[in-house]
Amino acid sequence: MKVVVDKAACVGCARCVRTCPDLFTQDEKLKAVVLVEVVPPLSELCAKATALICPVSAITIEQAEVKGS
Ligand code: SF4
Repeated sequence: MKVVVDKAACVGCARCVRTCPDLFTQDEKLKAVVLVEVVPPLSELCAKATALICPVSAITIEQAEVKGS
């Protein structure tokens, strides 16, 4: 699973950072930055939660491609 932030949409509210500090930080303009290339399994629920709580729907979840298909 990957998590992607639409920086143009992000309003810098920091909800995602407070919810999943292992996955998100903020840049100098307070835009959310994803810290991990691939979301660790134990953080997947947290990542999904941020997609729901982001007030501007700037966070999307992408499922990793299934190898061999
Ligand atoms: S919750 Fe959404 S708007 Fe708020 S900082 Fe994170 S990505 Fe940006």
